[in-house]
Amino acid sequence: MPKTDQQHRQDILDVGKLIYQKGWVAANDGNISVRLDNHRILCTCTGVSKGMMTPDDIIVCDLEGNKMGGARERTTEIAMHLTIYQMRPDVSAVVHAHPPVATGFAVAGRPLTLALLPEVIVSLGCVPLAEYGLPGTPALTSGMLPYIPKYDAILLGNHGSVCYGEDVYKAFFKMETVEHFARVTLVAELLGGPKVLPRHEVGKLFEARARYGVKSHTCMEPGRPLVAEDLDDREDGKQDRQDRKPEREDRNPDRDRLNITRDELMALVDEALRSRGALT
Ligand SMILES: [Zn+2]
Repeated sequence: MPKTDQQHRQDILDVGKLIYQKGWVAANDGNISVRLDNHRILCTCTGVSKGMMTPDDIIVCDLEGNKMGGARERTTEIAMHLTIYQMRPDVSAVVHAHPPVATGFAVAGRPLTLALLPEVIVSLGCVPLAEYGLPGTPALTSGMLPYIPKYDAILLGNHGSVCYGEDVYKAFFKMETVEHFARVTLVAELLGGPKVLPRHEVGKLFEARARYGVKSHTCMEPGRPLVAEDLDDREDGKQDRQDRKPEREDRNPDRDRLNITRDELMALVDEALRSRGALT
């Protein structure tokens, strides 16, 4: 049985509460939407805590973002939601939040692309980082465009994260995976650095998707996710540079240093002074 519009509204209120209680949004941050059909979406309004919404805070828009129903004003990030719906016919819900650890990675300019956790590789592949764009303007969306067709979770530079899926709970769970992955990655870094999975193990996880019924557009491609061999190549690059270092050191003054006794030095000084007439 497909859900009624009323049930979708309730789902948005429930997920809003969850993202607020989990501390993924502060004050009025974040926004949520659901595609009802080919003509209408439900979205949260602007200027309200996502943890304290009432049914009146849900707006109906068409797929151009024009308001069709609701007393309040639609989210200022409506364009981001509409772009995702336009580019991904398989997506029916979008959740945007600022979960603090994932947002920390986004603020540090660090994508979550290391191949570290099987469940992340199976479900999301990895989480790329879109370039910063001013919130509420087309610039926010333009940085995401390269990633929307393939990825279901994206970090937004200096901003937060957006996740989407077949329904609002699937989008919410993807956000939960992103934040959990960010936390695990951070802890691994504090404990001396994560151990990245090798390519053949990552390949097996991508193959296992069918078994888990995962419908994802991501596939293995160079650097996404980053496998152990990719990092080894980087290390080799560093090693090459280190290997070249002694060559530079060949020009080090150490190499031109002479071993000379005190008497030999005094004899040389005497000779130099004598040749200049300073010594007889
Ligand atoms: Zn935001």
